[in-house]
Amino acid sequence: MPETAGAHRIHVLDQATVNQIAAGEVVERPASVVKELVENAIDAGAGSIAIDLTASKDAITAIRVTDDGCGMSPADAELAFVPHATSKITSIDDLHNTRTLGFRGEALATIAAVARVTLVTKIRGSGAVPGTRILIAGGKVLETTGTGAPDGTSVLVGDLFFNTPARKKFQKSKNTELAHIHDILEGICLSHPDIAFHLTYNGTEQLVTDRTTRPEDTIARLFGSGVIRDLVPVDASLPLLGITGFVSRPSLARKDRARMFISVNQRFITSPAINDAIKAGYGTLLPKDRFPVAFLNLAIDIHLVDVNVHPTKKQIRLSREKEITEMIRNAVREALLAHDLIPAAEPPGSMIPLVRESPDTPVKTYDRSPVPAPSGVFEFPHAGTAATDQRLRQTELPVGPGPAYLVSSLLPEIEVIGEFSGIYILARTYDDELLLIDQHAAHERILYEQVSGQEQEKRASQELISPVVLHRTPKEAAILRDLLPALSLEGFVLEGFGGDSFLVRAVPVVLGRIEETTIIDEIISDLISEESAQAVSNRERITRIVACRGAVKAGTTCTREQCQRIVDQLRRMKNPFTCPHGRPTMIRFSRKELDTMFKRG
Ligand code: ADP
Ligand code: MG
Repeated sequence: MPETAGAHRIHVLDQATVNQIAAGEVVERPASVVKELVENAIDAGAGSIAIDLTASKDAITAIRVTDDGCGMSPADAELAFVPHATSKITSIDDLHNTRTLGFRGEALATIAAVARVTLVTKIRGSGAVPGTRILIAGGKVLETTGTGAPDGTSVLVGDLFFNTPARKKFQKSKNTELAHIHDILEGICLSHPDIAFHLTYNGTEQLVTDRTTRPEDTIARLFGSGVIRDLVPVDASLPLLGITGFVSRPSLARKDRARMFISVNQRFITSPAINDAIKAGYGTLLPKDRFPVAFLNLAIDIHLVDVNVHPTKKQIRLSREKEITEMIRNAVREALLAHDLIPAAEPPGSMIPLVRESPDTPVKTYDRSPVPAPSGVFEFPHAGTAATDQRLRQTELPVGPGPAYLVSSLLPEIEVIGEFSGIYILARTYDDELLLIDQHAAHERILYEQVSGQEQEKRASQELISPVVLHRTPKEAAILRDLLPALSLEGFVLEGFGGDSFLVRAVPVVLGRIEETTIIDEIISDLISEESAQAVSNRERITRIVACRGAVKAGTTCTREQCQRIVDQLRRMKNPFTCPHGRPTMIRFSRKELDTMFKRG
């Protein structure tokens, strides 16, 4: 644009645009809308909160949160949508005294800036006085009417991001969003056992908790009553903080921190420092790369906690963090000690010595139910599968930003729960589905996509420690000679070795440092014996064979970690549902289907 003297190139953005930009910080995705609305309901003193999600085939289309809280007057209901309008603080000083989850007055304004919102509200206990209904879209109030309504507030958010297409496009798959919503609600339910939550998805119940004074009821509701057995209570009243809740026995340890639920003053937060402190409480009870399950509620003097670090308030800043984390570590340690779970030997390092309250307190024990006879579903082995591990390690996919399919997933998170016959992995999703996964087919899919992902004309090779000699019949040798150029592009370094023999010097990198060189023989045999009237290209043919022969074989015993690695990788595939030949990698049973099979009505 040519510059004209006196013309402005700089201008102040209008409020609607400002709100849309700001929306990115508070409402980056459907799950953040759920979080903000539910937090408002909690702040309104609700005893029960319903979250109803509507979804089309590929996206969440509407979110409704209904509460029985204090409700709003007609005037407040309109004000609620004005940016920085809040009833929770009046000055910066209040910020450090507030116990409410919200206080920035941003959520409703920003949600209304990027969606169509219908709010229905009525002041609790206002009897026959009618309630208020407000329709607002893209930040503009379209309609305000009086209406009959139950006490409390209901906010319906539809058409999310309708006016910010870039953000809309950025949305992950529906399943990823649902997983996020579950994560957020689990955290909120656990930090508020005194509130009943009810989540539905297209009318089907997904998550239900009752009002309770026993947090373990909520835990059981969310994760099954089985976990309670493996939890150890923590209850400590210390100078700077109170800690209540549960940590797991080491046997329940996981490979990530996803089941460490921490709330500080009834706000569900994530805090690496607190997670580390909890883990430190286990000392050497847990391997370096394992994390306990924890459900801890911390009551910390509010003056020591700064929640205003980020608009979403998921992180906190603690004053006297070192002292506080030390106390957490000791409290966890003491709880484990009280259950005789910590071996006598002190782990190396500067552990603060612990004194049991009374040395006479009898040590609590749990009976170990007898191990059932082998039945096909068995305990995972812990070692002795180094060869399998080697085969699986070579399929590690790069982490971090990459093609879209690496960061979003067609499948919700999957947790391995068992293995059957050395062929099938038993797993569950956080969507309450039971999965039977064909170990070989799944790994085959992983290798296949890994190889196909290498776009270059000539794919990477891995030199063999010692070259392998292949002997063939004259006819086979002739076919093989024809295929040498194609094989070379796929990363095989193969040369004639006199007569009808060949020397293999290198293989595609995806096969790694293979030790059982029979794989090479199998691959070449498959290639030669396959019908040549194939519709697919040589590249595709070789890729499929390499994936098939490189994958763990049915009947290979895998450890839990190995199985988990397979399913975690499978989740990252473009098409996780079939192997390259089109056979299914998994069979899914939803809770509903199982219930029907068991005639549970
Ligand atoms: P904040 O929660 O930070 O105050 P919000 O934009 O989320 O900001 O909400 C603005 C105001 O609207 C709140 O301070 C509260 O007074 C009112 N409000 C929002 N949701 C509800 C609700 N579910 N019940 C009663 N009042 C509500
Ligand atoms: Mg709020």
